Amino acid sequence: MKLESYVEGRWHAGSGAGRPFADPVNGELLGHVDGTGIDGAAALAYARDVGGPALRALTFAERGALIRAIADTLGANRDAYMEIARRNSGNTAFDASVDIDGAIATLKVYARYGKELGDTHSIMEQGTVQLAKEDVFRAGHIWTTRPGAGLHINAFNFPAWGVWEKIAVSLLAGVPALSKPASATAWLSCQMVRDVVEAGVLPNGAISLVCGNGDGLLEGLTAFDGLAFTGSAATAHTLRRHPNILIAAPRFNVEADSVNGTILGPDARPGDAVFDLLVRELVSAFSVKAGQMCTNIRRIMVPAERLKDVREAVAAKLDNIVIGDPAVEGVRMGPLVSKSQQKSAFDGLERLKSDARVITGGGLPERIQGGDLDKGCFVAPTLLECGDPDGARAVHEIEVFGPVATLIPYRDQAHAIALANRGGGSLAISLFSNDADFAAQTAVGIAPSHGRLMVVDESVGKNHTGHQYALAHCVHGGPGRAGDGEELGGLRGLRFYMQRSAVQGSPALLERLAGNAAPACL
Ligand code: NAP
Repeated sequence: MKLESYVEGRWHAGSGAGRPFADPVNGELLGHVDGTGIDGAAALAYARDVGGPALRALTFAERGALIRAIADTLGANRDAYMEIARRNSGNTAFDASVDIDGAIATLKVYARYGKELGDTHSIMEQGTVQLAKEDVFRAGHIWTTRPGAGLHINAFNFPAWGVWEKIAVSLLAGVPALSKPASATAWLSCQMVRDVVEAGVLPNGAISLVCGNGDGLLEGLTAFDGLAFTGSAATAHTLRRHPNILIAAPRFNVEADSVNGTILGPDARPGDAVFDLLVRELVSAFSVKAGQMCTNIRRIMVPAERLKDVREAVAAKLDNIVIGDPAVEGVRMGPLVSKSQQKSAFDGLERLKSDARVITGGGLPERIQGGDLDKGCFVAPTLLECGDPDGARAVHEIEVFGPVATLIPYRDQAHAIALANRGGGSLAISLFSNDADFAAQTAVGIAPSHGRLMVVDESVGKNHTGHQYALAHCVHGGPGRAGDGEELGGLRGLRFYMQRSAVQGSPALLERLAGNAAPACL
């Protein structure tokens, strides 16, 4: 199998040999991905010139209906996607559902937003200000669709959700999308786009797909385009330095990696509900998608006097996780996605060991159910413990993208806040405590370094949505090394694809504009 790209309204096979992708359970070659010969600049121009006008002619409600039709098409083919995710990503059914059902759910949320915005093409912020002594001259703010394309570069760990959460927002804004999935797992993205194209639900040029290295895409960006990137901080640095990113200066959103944390409050004792909730969340952080989630807990900050309790509770649960081939009944955790990700996890682990000792795991799993330990890409759930968190650097800086996290003791609230902020900017952090003062004060102390905070007490219990799950209604993205980007967040996501303009004029003109626009605050 060789994956094709969908650009300029048709499917193209690359002219090169391509990069191989494999089943990470046993190393079996599945196919090649190749974009050689695809003209990235022409692909973007087609999206901009053909897809752009067609989408801008539609109202938000009509675009919402298109997005709903995409969700329905994907829903109808879900079983095939689950199988691809198992074979190409080593996903368990639960892992695959997080990605695939997460994609469909996000599309449905944006379809509903389209319906709510109604038969309009622009958004008017509520409230105007009087600018002259006489009330004959006022100012308001209007959001309109930028006449560009959205170039979406995605990471390997979410070939479904990562692609569609970006496309959903882009299409609702009226901006055509060109998606470039990561090569290692592009099969699923490619099949989904193929099904949507075959369903014929979108205008020409509304979506495009480049499988492969995407030559010419960055060079083809213009000032009104947007580049939405998700991946490692290292690749983000490369893209930031690209001459065309600097000169043409398209909008650029970065969703990069981070060393996210969780904090157990000083009030929590073994047997308390919040203690158990933290342990449950940690087990999920290690096992779901074999720890390959950008929002995952990498640092576990606990009161020094609770270190032993948390260590013992978590280690016992990790040792019971059944690892292996997700096709085998009872397997709860699969492999990492590729040999290179496995190597990079082991390399990162070695660096963490300079700051922390291994409590459990630390290499290959001792046993697996099904699969091939040599040819597969398995990593044992690994809990480390850092004795000197103030002197340590690696534990605060290295993201091991797999089932790996480090226990970190803190002395008091100020210390917990300082340690959490040592991540240098993260996507997500969680707090488990029934002490309302501790939770509220800590939240304010850590918020500047984090894009999303989840605070769990007994009243929330198991009703929370999970530390690692990004939700369509909440902003996703974090400051500093996390990229300083922002995606989703309900209608806030539209800001990336739309232009806010101050409009100064008579009250009558502003009322007329407001009458034709959806009222909202982005
Ligand atoms: P990556 O190696 O940085 O690759 C990300 C994407 O960038 C891929 O599509 C890759 O294409 C492409 N790419 C690489 N070099 C490029 C270049 N010079 N020009 C244009 N495109 C280029 O990241 P990954 O290994 O796929 O993903 C794992 C990382 O992503 C982790 O660090 C994780 O934390 C982060 N992540 C962040 C979020 C978030 O929302 N913040 C979500 C998921 C993952 P090829 O695959 O074809 O090389």
